[in-house]
Amino acid sequence: MAELTLKQVRKSFGALEVIKGVDLEVASGEFVVFVGPSGCGKSTLLRIIAGLEETTSGMLTIGGKDVTHAEPSERGIAMVFQSYALYPHMTVAENIGFGLSLARRSKAEIAAKVAATAETLQLTHLLQRKPKALSGGQRQRVAIGRAIIRNPRVFLFDEPLSNLDASLRAKMRLEISDLHARLKSTMIYVTHDQVEAMTMADKIVVLNGGAVEQIGSPMELYRNPATPFVAGFIGSPK
Ligand code: ADP
Ligand code: MG
Repeated sequence: MAELTLKQVRKSFGALEVIKGVDLEVASGEFVVFVGPSGCGKSTLLRIIAGLEETTSGMLTIGGKDVTHAEPSERGIAMVFQSYALYPHMTVAENIGFGLSLARRSKAEIAAKVAATAETLQLTHLLQRKPKALSGGQRQRVAIGRAIIRNPRVFLFDEPLSNLDASLRAKMRLEISDLHARLKSTMIYVTHDQVEAMTMADKIVVLNGGAVEQIGSPMELYRNPATPFVAGFIGSPK
């Protein structure tokens, strides 16, 4: 069974249609990358999956359940943004555990889960620091920790590395791929960076002007781009 499905999902802002009938199936454990130029609708599509935007029409399922009109908190998803959105007055431990304290879990349970999450992300030695005393890569790991601790069915990443410099970006790409291999969870990762798409994805969804141009493995898209757009964006020159 597919972990996530989109059926003819459309979204308009006023008269402007920005998502134009997207169909997609994501298998459990798959790492799917949405790639395409700025303004093509990647963030909007991710926000629709997260429940932060209502669809204008179409249907979404997560884990076989119709979530088209479900609240974000009912979807079993966790989202990691480009801007880290950490709470500056809280420590790393408090930032990572915040979602669980909202859910009124016991202090002991929160502490144990924060410790395990910090270990997964090599943040244990930084748990008592405030965000301003962290590097960009460390902050992004804290943001990922906040997502992991909720044990979501699906992780959504919106250009999580675009604020980092090139060498750190390359390192964090490997960290996220490694995390996916260890957690075996379903991940959807948005980027405008072809290298990220080609190196991280099991499956790439190429978006252009709010519509899907092609879906396939990095190798399929590289060898057999379906359109000149895909060829120009990632495919080999023909
Ligand atoms: P991407 O993430 O691929 O850069 P977005 O999903 O952010 O693209 O935006 C897709 C299109 O939708 C753009 O033309 C953008 O201006 C428009 N858009 C996004 N959010 C809104 C909004 N809240 N109101 C009006 N237009 C929006
Ligand atoms: Mg975006």
